[in-house]
Amino acid sequence: MTAFIEASSPHTMNTYGRLPIALSHGQGVRVWDVNGKSYLDGLGGIAVNTLGHNHPKLVPALQDQIAKIIHSCNYYHIPNQEALAAKLVELSGLTNVFFCCTGLEANEAALKLARKFGHDKGIERPEIVVYEKAFHGRSIATLSATGNEKIQKGFGPMVEGFIRVPLNDIEALKKATEGNPNVTAVFFETIQGEGGVNPMRIEYLQQVRKLCDERDWLLMIDEVQCGMGRTGKWFAHQWAGIKPDVMPLAKGLGSGVPVGAVVAGPKAAHIFQPGNHGTTFGGNPLAMRAGVETIRIMEEEGLLENAATVGAHLQAALRRELAGVEGFVEVRGQGLMIGVQLARPCGVLAQRAVDAGLLISVTADSVIRLVPPLIMTAAEADELVGILCPLIKQFLAEPV
Ligand SMILES: *Cc1c(COP(=O)(O)O)cnc(C)c1O
Repeated sequence: MTAFIEASSPHTMNTYGRLPIALSHGQGVRVWDVNGKSYLDGLGGIAVNTLGHNHPKLVPALQDQIAKIIHSCNYYHIPNQEALAAKLVELSGLTNVFFCCTGLEANEAALKLARKFGHDKGIERPEIVVYEKAFHGRSIATLSATGNEKIQKGFGPMVEGFIRVPLNDIEALKKATEGNPNVTAVFFETIQGEGGVNPMRIEYLQQVRKLCDERDWLLMIDEVQCGMGRTGKWFAHQWAGIKPDVMPLAKGLGSGVPVGAVVAGPKAAHIFQPGNHGTTFGGNPLAMRAGVETIRIMEEEGLLENAATVGAHLQAALRRELAGVEGFVEVRGQGLMIGVQLARPCGVLAQRAVDAGLLISVTADSVIRLVPPLIMTAAEADELVGILCPLIKQFLAEPV
C-alpha cells in the first residue's frame, strides 16, 4: 500500500490532503479498496454518486451510450440535451437550461447571467450579494463569491462586485444593499455544503424571494450539492415553496458522470444570446444520457421518498446516540444531507472512520458531513450510526 501511494504522488499536483487508500470498485452503498477492504459509503463521492455504485440500470445504459457516441460537440444538436432540459424544466418549474460539466462552471454561468442582466438594464458595474461561509467553486470568480478567506488566500486580487452578508438575516441583507442601484442578484446555497451544512430558513427564503421581486434582482440558488433529490425534494428550495430565477446544478445530476447545468426561469432564460457563453464538453451525449437515466431511475425507485425517510431515520438515530454526549452540539440538515456539529475540530475522524470501514468527510473543521447515495436503506443507515457514533464518543472523551 505504501508503495502504491509513493508511486502515485510524484506527478500529480499536491492539491488534496488525501487519505491513504485507493478505491477499486463498488456495489450499492459499499466500496472496496485495492487491498480488498470494504467500506460503507457515507460520502457518495461528495454527494455525487446518487445511485450508489454499479447500479444495475445505470451501468448498461451508459455502456450502450459509450458504444454509440461519447462526444459530438455543440456545433450540432444533441437530442438528449433537449430531453434532460425538458425534465429539469418539469421538475423545477423553470424554463430553460444551459449544460456544462462542473459546479463551478454552472456557477460561473450564473454569475455571467447576473452581470449581463445588469448590463442589459444599463447597470455598468453590477453587484451580486453573496454569503458568509458560502462555497461556490474555485475558479477566480466563484472563489471570489465563496465566503472562506482560507481558500481565497494567495489568489488575490479577488473579482470585484460582490457584497457579503450573514445567513438568515433579512435586515442585514436590506441594510447591505440600501440605496445601491447596482445590485442585480442574490446568490446562495439553500443548504451550505462545504461551509458546514448550514440551512437557510424557510421564512428567510420566502423573504428573499419577495425582496428580489420588489427590487428586480435575480434570485440565484446554488443547488450543486443540496439539489437533485438529496433533501427529499428535487431541489432544496422547494421546501419553501419558492422558485429561483437561476439555479446551478452539478454533483448528483449524473450519478458520477460529470454533468453541470444552469436552469433559469423567465427572468433569466433569454439573457444569453449566441456567442455569449459556451463550453466544449458541456452537454455531451454521454453526460446527457447519464443525467436522463439518473432522473428516470430516481423516479422509478422512489429515491426522493427514500432520501426523506432514510434521512429522517438517520438523523433521529444520530441524535439519539449522541444525546448528552459532552462536545456534541447538534445534527443539522435535511434528508440525506446531514451535518453533525461537534464543539471542536475533528478532522482526524475522517481517517478513523476509514480505519473502521466507513467513508465520511469533515467540513468547516468541526462538522461531520454525511451525503451518502440516495439508495441507502434504513438498515444501512443504522450500520453507519453503529460505526460512526462510537468513534465520535471516543474522540470527544479524549483530552483536548
Ligand atoms: C461542490 C460545490 C461547488 C463546486 O463544484 P465543482 O464541481 O467542484 O466545481 C459549487 N457549489 C456548491 C454548493 C458545491 O457544493
